[in-house]
Amino acid sequence: MARIGFIGLGNMGGPMAANLARAGHEVAGFDLKDDAMERAAGTGVAPATTARAAAGGAEAVVTMLPAGQQLRDLYLGEGGLLAAVSADSLLIDSSTVDLASARAVHAAAAAAGRIFVDAPVSGGVAGAEQAALTFMCGGSEAAFARAKPLLEAMGRSVVHAGGAGNGQAAKLCNNMLLGISMLGVCEAFVLAEKLGLDPQALFDIASKSSGSCWAMLNHLPLPGIVEGAAANRDYRPGFAANLMLKDLRLSQEAALQAAAATPLAAAAAALFGMFVNAGNGDLDYSAIVKMVRGH
Ligand code: NAD
Repeated sequence: MARIGFIGLGNMGGPMAANLARAGHEVAGFDLKDDAMERAAGTGVAPATTARAAAGGAEAVVTMLPAGQQLRDLYLGEGGLLAAVSADSLLIDSSTVDLASARAVHAAAAAAGRIFVDAPVSGGVAGAEQAALTFMCGGSEAAFARAKPLLEAMGRSVVHAGGAGNGQAAKLCNNMLLGISMLGVCEAFVLAEKLGLDPQALFDIASKSSGSCWAMLNHLPLPGIVEGAAANRDYRPGFAANLMLKDLRLSQEAALQAAAATPLAAAAAALFGMFVNAGNGDLDYSAIVKMVRGH
């Protein structure tokens, strides 16, 4: 069992750190917020006074932070964590961040002789709580091999997506597809309403036809058909619309840098931007069906 430093004990990081402690690891955790620290302490995570204290001497350091800015601030520059961790410490970032930040930290870690893996997740808070996350990992084969057993204490599926930053690349391509798919599902089911077609009939047919997709099968934006869908609980997330917007914007940034044409994702980012700006950011992303309906 390893001594692990865990930084960022929020909605995702809190239960992830708890699962590492439950698996028998010695976990020292740090968050800027007192309430996150208190919750973590109740789950077997030892409170550290600073990020450096959590990371110093740890065999592995896991970060679960809001975005790329916090990752860069923590790791890079004078007083950054890269200087504080042991030479053989394994550094894993599971936050969803922009590709440039992930690759900047990879490069700085390599220059300092440290091992870094970008390992963003899919599965949300429920997946974090149930240790059922999917991890998409970017880094060397050797780094991935070291990270895999640790990540398996927090997830059900741990996949190597390739070299530095490719975990984030997989995450943003996947979520770009999810955002576009959800809007397609919304449009089809709103058109069905206007055509007098029962949504249950459309679901039964489409789920066995060429229009089927994961967003429809799991997150149908209409209530009463798919068990577990946020539509059944007045669109309480689930996967909040503001997080979908964050991921769509990250995919747009990456598309711009790579000169990839992503017109459907650009439209999806614009639509989710309007939906969030209208005060709906904390609703599940499937609630965008209301806007598609014109409400
Ligand atoms: P959150 O805001 O609940 O947690 C982030 C935590 O990081 C906060 O508690 C904050 O205080 C802490 N933090 C920020 N800077 C810090 C620093 N320098 N040192 C220590 N702590 C610091 O967010 P979350 O929902 O847990 O999401 C974390 C990451 O996971 C994000 O990148 C998000 O995009 C990604 N993600 C979230 C979900 C989800 O459903 N919530 C799903 C997949 C991926």
